[in-house]
Amino acid sequence: AVKPGATILASKVAKEYADEITKKVETMKDIRPQGPLLVGFLANGDPAAEMYASWTKKTCESMGFRYELRRIDDKDFLEEAIIEANRDDSVDGIMVYYPIFGNAQDQYLQQVVAREKDVEGLNHVYYQNMYHNVRFLDEEKQLKSILPCTPLAIVKILEYLKIYNTLLPEGNRLYGKKCVVVNRSEIVGRPLAALLANDGAIVYSVDVNNVQKFTRGESLKFTKHHVEDLGPYSDALLKECCSDADVIITGVPSEKYKFPTEYIPDGAVCINFSSSKNFDDSVKKKASLYVPMTGKVTISMLLRNMLRLIENTEKLKAK
Ligand code: NAD
Repeated sequence: AVKPGATILASKVAKEYADEITKKVETMKDIRPQGPLLVGFLANGDPAAEMYASWTKKTCESMGFRYELRRIDDKDFLEEAIIEANRDDSVDGIMVYYPIFGNAQDQYLQQVVAREKDVEGLNHVYYQNMYHNVRFLDEEKQLKSILPCTPLAIVKILEYLKIYNTLLPEGNRLYGKKCVVVNRSEIVGRPLAALLANDGAIVYSVDVNNVQKFTRGESLKFTKHHVEDLGPYSDALLKECCSDADVIITGVPSEKYKFPTEYIPDGAVCINFSSSKNFDDSVKKKASLYVPMTGKVTISMLLRNMLRLIENTEKLKAK
């Protein structure tokens, strides 16, 4: 018999956006003759971040952007370096490879990056808009808000996989879908659960401590998601949440962790965004579509965010 499932690589999804992004960069030739400039700050010597930075550089240059990696040997100087880039008119976008301090100071640094240059979408204003399902920065609805790039990348992957049903009105396209997200960090898991629920899904958000349910209520009666505690984490509770899941998304930062394949219903869509392989190969026997990594789509979203930031800046200048 023909094997039922397929593995979908992030590069294939990213390709969908390459044309759109490249064309837009070309239309900006009059205002950015050398191409928009993205600056990446690396202050943790993390080899995974090094690899991500080199991919980002390659992707940038292939689409007409400029990319500059700034290595900061002493992390206590990072804040000053970010402020300098904030002030520098030649810099369009800024990103920082986290973790740096691995504590609340990292959240402080996220807010040091100028909102107008925050390609990762980590600024508080963008987060608050996302959690409240607000799509614009201004009353006139001219300036689109920015979404955090990894959760956005996963939304775009779900669109590519046709989990978003385009026959439904925008904003409700996940109505009826059940999703499990194993990770509730403030960078990816929680914003992702909120985004999916805002689009109409029932989302089980799982972390080491407990399980929460994000929804817009019965018949999507609320305009933004609500959260309900389902209790402390247990394998039994995870299994129950997965029993009729359409989508299972993992982001556990550990090489040892493997999502139990026996919890995956036949034909579910499985996506891993962790840099570790959270599913073992047996996932392919269960999943309809399996996406083993997402980083390349994240980079596309970073560049897409950067173009949006430039557009917003130009619109504000024109006002
Ligand atoms: P984090 O350490 O802040 O969060 C990890 C989350 O996983 C927490 O919510 C934790 O409770 C949960 N978790 C850990 N072990 C678990 C278990 N056994 N069962 C259930 N939940 C568990 O990490 P992060 O910043 O969210 O990053 C997670 C991973 O995603 C890392 O590998 C990181 O490199 C990767 N990442 C990828 C991208 C991308 O674009 N692909 C972007 C950002 C981060």
